[in-house]
Amino acid sequence: MDTYDIRFPTSRQLDGSDAMNPDPDYSAAYLVLRTDAPDGLAGHGFTFTIGRGNDVQVAALDALRPHVLGRSVEDLSADPGLVSRALTGDSQLRWLGPEKGVMHMAIGAVVNAVWDLAAKRRGVPLWKLLADAEPEWLVSQVDFRYIADALSPEEALELLRRGREGSAGREKTLRAEGYPAYTTSPGWLGYSDEKLTRLAEEAVAAGFTQIKLKVGADLADDIRRCRAARAAIGPDVRLALDANQRWNVAEAIEWTQALAGFDPYWIEEPTSPDDILGHARIRAAVAPVKVATGEHVQNRIVFKQLLQADAVDVVQLDAARVGGVNENLAILLLAAKFGVPVCPHAGGVGLCELVQHLAMFDYVALSGTTEDRVIEFVDHLHGHFEHPAVVRDGRYTAPLSPGFSAEMYPASLATFAYPGGTFWTDDLAAAGTAGDAEPVGAAGVVAESVEVTA
Ligand SMILES: [Mg+2]
Repeated sequence: MDTYDIRFPTSRQLDGSDAMNPDPDYSAAYLVLRTDAPDGLAGHGFTFTIGRGNDVQVAALDALRPHVLGRSVEDLSADPGLVSRALTGDSQLRWLGPEKGVMHMAIGAVVNAVWDLAAKRRGVPLWKLLADAEPEWLVSQVDFRYIADALSPEEALELLRRGREGSAGREKTLRAEGYPAYTTSPGWLGYSDEKLTRLAEEAVAAGFTQIKLKVGADLADDIRRCRAARAAIGPDVRLALDANQRWNVAEAIEWTQALAGFDPYWIEEPTSPDDILGHARIRAAVAPVKVATGEHVQNRIVFKQLLQADAVDVVQLDAARVGGVNENLAILLLAAKFGVPVCPHAGGVGLCELVQHLAMFDYVALSGTTEDRVIEFVDHLHGHFEHPAVVRDGRYTAPLSPGFSAEMYPASLATFAYPGGTFWTDDLAAAGTAGDAEPVGAAGVVAESVEVTA
């Protein structure tokens, strides 16, 4: 198990900037599971962080190494739940959670790498592996501890059996038409109104039927930006808003109501992702504006409570926040049970690549619909992936390469490894020769050439 600290200097152009994260350097704590199997296949996985958090995240990955070294590739591929259970069951590491935060994210990365390997060995994309799996086996992959009061294994089995009805037809549709996407690219908080307007117009021209705007730093700015966005996209394209946890509950209600005239479709992360009752209050107050959250929801238990408390209209699962595919199966099943649409969080590094598999499985073999469902899309950093997500006419095309689309090019790993990769050593050298304590000016030139997009 090799681990890598990969960082991209995205903060220099304010890509990814929002009300809580003014300087994100999109990063991945990345790992490769190598085996001595004759097929030479490796499992790739990662957690998305935004810079110095990677120091801690990579250390967490390293702490899990003893649980995977020496295991049988056959056993793991047949039952990825083995590794999921072993990692979450490590009592000394569980103390740091339980099942939340840095340690849990690291577990998710390792578990996802096992699923990547399993799908590659099967020769199918992960969505297809899941969609073709027996419902009984899928149920065996889910940890029902702490959620059985809302979803029993028997109910899960019933949902999956029903989900299989007509799945062949939906798979055909998916392969032909893809899965709906929306774009966040126009709406980063650090962008000028001109850039916002231009990117919003381009998004509509490119076939997107929903865009998203970051809000929450300054109300007068938000009113101006919402007006510009609505003017650019017209009345029929959905406008989602995202506050990235900026507000208290009362503030979230007032601010959302102040923007209601621009007909927002949802307000995302209005407050702390841990505040279930707060979300319920906000939802009751801002309807018909929908309430969405999930990218920072730490595990299946919090999702369960958000659903039980009627606190969300949209579940935004994240492929690299919770404990990997196994826990996301639990979250998809919970959402299906409560009849709430899942619109996965993406963007970041490689999140588009991962979540498409989960949403496509859900369409083909669980919820059976794409109605009111969209996967987030942000058009950057895809060029570092061997099998990048492909969006055409506002829709994700179904990935066909075997695996979980998680594999980055070796050259990208070598270039952006921190601090020893060639980008960062050059960057530090440039800062040194400039004789300046402020490296941004010198490095900003370099950053232009590293905005690698598909
Ligand atoms: Mg968000």
